[in-house]
Amino acid sequence: MEDLGFKDIRVRFAPSPTGKLHLGSARTALFNWLVARGGGGRLVLRLEDTDEERSSIDFEENILDSLKWIGIDWDEGPDIGGDYGPYRQSERMSLYKEYSDSLLGAGRAYRCYCTSDELDSRKKAVIEKGLPWRYDRRCANLSTDDINRFEEEGRPYAVRFRVPEGEVVIEDILRGEVKVDAKEIDDFIISRSTGKAGFHLAVVVDDMTMDISIVIRGDDHLTNAARHVLLFEAFGARTPRFLHHSLLMGPDGSKLSKRHGSTSVSDYRGQGYLPEALMNYLALLSWSPGDDREIFTPQELVKEFSIKGISASKAIFDFDKLNWLDRQHIKKLSSSELTDQVVPFIKNSGDGRLLGLERPKLELAVESVRNNMEKLTDGLEPLEVYVRPAGELSEKAGNELRKMNETGEALGLCIEVLRANPGTDLETAERIVEQMRSKAKEKEWGARKMLWPFRLAVTGLTIGPDLTHLIMFWEPEGCARRIEAVREKF
Ligand code: GLU
Repeated sequence: MEDLGFKDIRVRFAPSPTGKLHLGSARTALFNWLVARGGGGRLVLRLEDTDEERSSIDFEENILDSLKWIGIDWDEGPDIGGDYGPYRQSERMSLYKEYSDSLLGAGRAYRCYCTSDELDSRKKAVIEKGLPWRYDRRCANLSTDDINRFEEEGRPYAVRFRVPEGEVVIEDILRGEVKVDAKEIDDFIISRSTGKAGFHLAVVVDDMTMDISIVIRGDDHLTNAARHVLLFEAFGARTPRFLHHSLLMGPDGSKLSKRHGSTSVSDYRGQGYLPEALMNYLALLSWSPGDDREIFTPQELVKEFSIKGISASKAIFDFDKLNWLDRQHIKKLSSSELTDQVVPFIKNSGDGRLLGLERPKLELAVESVRNNMEKLTDGLEPLEVYVRPAGELSEKAGNELRKMNETGEALGLCIEVLRANPGTDLETAERIVEQMRSKAKEKEWGARKMLWPFRLAVTGLTIGPDLTHLIMFWEPEGCARRIEAVREKF
């Protein structure tokens, strides 16, 4: 990665555990990870769990598991600790209170006693006039008498940040200087009447006290960034650099949602996508190495990643491209690696028969269906051929066999060739197929007249892996017996 001029790169991924890890959030996490790993920095995982009603431990687990699965690790976080913890916002409330009090004390914030009913009715009146609503600063300059009166009434209060006048400048690595007129920002709440910190205060206090140097997140947070810059300035703290990346959109151009299909990383995991393919895909959605390479391992991504390769334009999710990339990553696995990946899905499918196979046979079987796989689960159905009992024909296969002339003779010749060629290697299997072809030729038959009944009889099916794999799997003698089992039934 290019030098960004930081002595220490500290980035953070700050999900709210209010849902499973969304692909869009995984992409944010990935950018942070690539910057941390590519720039020799540290990645902090922080859980923004202040919304008690919507946050849950299950979602938290899903987020952490999904990140690990896809290949993203972190250096500090709720599960592993670190020097800047705790890493759950719900455990940092007293810290936020201190910072909120300090702004109150300095006059940079004020108590707001407006009730939600009062706010609602004033808001309604403004909107009815066709004007935009912003907090009307009713409590910005309360007299001591007013404050005493409210306090005597026991009115709860929120704390609002007093937004100063002027221009706010957000230094964004992708977008340059983004300028916002502070007039457009209302005096936002930094501490709720319940005593809980507001979202913006919590984010800024955390980024400040966790010493975050670059904030990388989706551009839906760009408007929040202006508020954050104001808070950093009010605390006299260094403002981090920002990188607001484009959001992930569905093919119709709207934000990627369930309407478009699966959106959570764990769904893709369950469907049998390879983690490295999904990572590769998410990285490529708005980053390019500057040439036409598309297939990257996680290590290659870390090595090649550069911020200048990120595009600020919309990222459109393309299911076909993901499938294509998954196929490319499946191609790269060794038979043994591919088998390791497929086994959990076999286990999940509840069909124990395949698991009863010895490992070399299972690898052979999995290898033979590799080309069927756009994702791992695509291999399950074709694999079933290997656990079919001998002599059992599907209706289609039975009809095909009956339809042909001289089937019995062809199958007899197959058995001869098989028994004349013992051996379990690829060469033997290829020789067997070759000899079957020659026998057909001698008979002045097309090769199909020999090979088709062979496939039908050995597998009992009309489709399946190539013949050499079938021969290696059952071995020539096993194939011969399977043919005999069919012949007995005819
Ligand atoms: N918790 C916020 C979210 O999940 C992220 C806030 C931030 O990155 O500053 O969208």
